[in-house]
Amino acid sequence: MTESKKSAQPGFTTTILHGDRKLSVEHGAVHKPIHTSTQYAYSDARELAAVFQGKPGYTYARQGTPTSDALEKKINKMEDGVASLSFATGMAALTALFTTLLRAGDHLLSSQFIFGNTNSLFGTLEMLGIEITLVDPTDAQAVAAAIRPNTKMLFTETIANPGTQVADLVGLGQLCQKHQLVYVVDNTVTSPWLFRPKAVGASIVMNALSKHIGGHANALGGSLTDTGLFDWTAYSNILDIYKKGPATGWAITQIKKKGLRDMGGTLSADAAHRIAVGAETLALRLDKICSNAMALATFLSKHPGVQRVAYPGLTNHPQHARAAQLFGGKFSMLIAVELVAGIDCLEFLNHLQVAILATHVGDTRTLALPAAQTIYYEMGPDLRAKMGIADGLIRLSVGIEDQDDLIADFAQAFAACRAA
Ligand SMILES: *Cc1c(COP(=O)(O)O)cnc(C)c1O
Repeated sequence: MTESKKSAQPGFTTTILHGDRKLSVEHGAVHKPIHTSTQYAYSDARELAAVFQGKPGYTYARQGTPTSDALEKKINKMEDGVASLSFATGMAALTALFTTLLRAGDHLLSSQFIFGNTNSLFGTLEMLGIEITLVDPTDAQAVAAAIRPNTKMLFTETIANPGTQVADLVGLGQLCQKHQLVYVVDNTVTSPWLFRPKAVGASIVMNALSKHIGGHANALGGSLTDTGLFDWTAYSNILDIYKKGPATGWAITQIKKKGLRDMGGTLSADAAHRIAVGAETLALRLDKICSNAMALATFLSKHPGVQRVAYPGLTNHPQHARAAQLFGGKFSMLIAVELVAGIDCLEFLNHLQVAILATHVGDTRTLALPAAQTIYYEMGPDLRAKMGIADGLIRLSVGIEDQDDLIADFAQAFAACRAA
């Protein structure tokens, strides 16, 4: 992604901005229109049959529309994949992925530091007979020791939400290659602007489009991208009917037919449009978010009211060097902070005036959430301890506000707590 060498390929933002126009949109519109039609008609019955039998085209909107297709093409460019699919939410994308590529009796290895609802989804997968082992993704050797003969897939996030542990993405990629495991990377926290999982051998990349890529907290969406690196001819769970054409397309076809058409977690055209517009400014927003988060984390790390700050950009973060190398010297939006014993974290949060008390991450606005009492409440104290969620942990998702306003807000909240 360096711009120094003039290449034939346009850069990240140029590609996304001009993606629709290059596909010759109706009337010269610069955006792909919002196609609300639920079905697509053909004047030739043979053509209609051909599309149902696999020829590219549209049939019923549950399997996609020209609007979601245009977004998928952009995501595919961002992740440098062979094909991408969009879904109604990030969780719909993950559900489609796990339930269509794994079967009862298969073993899934997953990072123990993951998004709370992904962890909760694993309970459902276990009820369906899929075996799951949670492992420490920062240590590829420990992960290697957990591989079994029936292990099929390894799942990890890049920078974990909310603890900010950084997986050994290179080491895990080598492990998956050696053992022929499907390597799934949830790239939500880094986004393709900071990191392309394909570079470390990922087979499938998931993005919660609701977060950085959409970026404005006005639409939910998720995506899966096949990087083309995994040899699906060596994978036993692809149904014969989907083994048509180049093998790089088999898995994504199975996910589309079984996970999207049959399960129905389809992205609406309206949401696809909002996400596509948001994606145009991904690089601009995320660079500002990264510099704001670095400044706020530095401020917090020096403040006497703070006991612990986890931010991969701070040199005392256990995986700082790894993060610096993998993500081009940027560390994204998540800060996990614990206050000193004398300050009640809920009281502190009540004093914030700029940061919003809300769940969600990757918005343009700074969001603050007490993690144990909210998104991690249902899983109970034991699992929280395993995932490193302390009772006083505050998750911050830093936005694009003016940096001085943000730091002043946290400074005044500490002062208000001390005065009380
Ligand atoms: C939010 C999130 C998801 C789920 O995405 P939704 O669109 O909210 O369903 C998955 N993984 C990570 C890391 C997330 O932050």
